[in-house]
Amino acid sequence: MKRIYTNADQSRVGMYQSLLEENGIQTLLKNNNAPYKEVWPEVWVVNDDQYDDALKLFKELDTQLSVPVAPWDCPECGERIEEGFGECWNCGAVKAS
Ligand SMILES: [Zn+2]
Repeated sequence: MKRIYTNADQSRVGMYQSLLEENGIQTLLKNNNAPYKEVWPEVWVVNDDQYDDALKLFKELDTQLSVPVAPWDCPECGERIEEGFGECWNCGAVKAS
């Protein structure tokens, strides 16, 4: 069993864990609801041979979550989109990276 992810932000940890579970990777959550702030929740991959697959999924997710740091113009409909949004609120087009 290997630890793959830990973060102080519990919702982020939960998001990563469900991503893995949805892709058939068996996980274990540790330190969830830990009584101390300095103890972070951790996601563990139960089967070592699924660890590489899990890492790959994380990388894909990071790419999807890349948040633009400047306003951008939608390539589809031309709307001006504020920074912090990865897709057009008007037509749903995703910002080209
Ligand atoms: Zn658009």
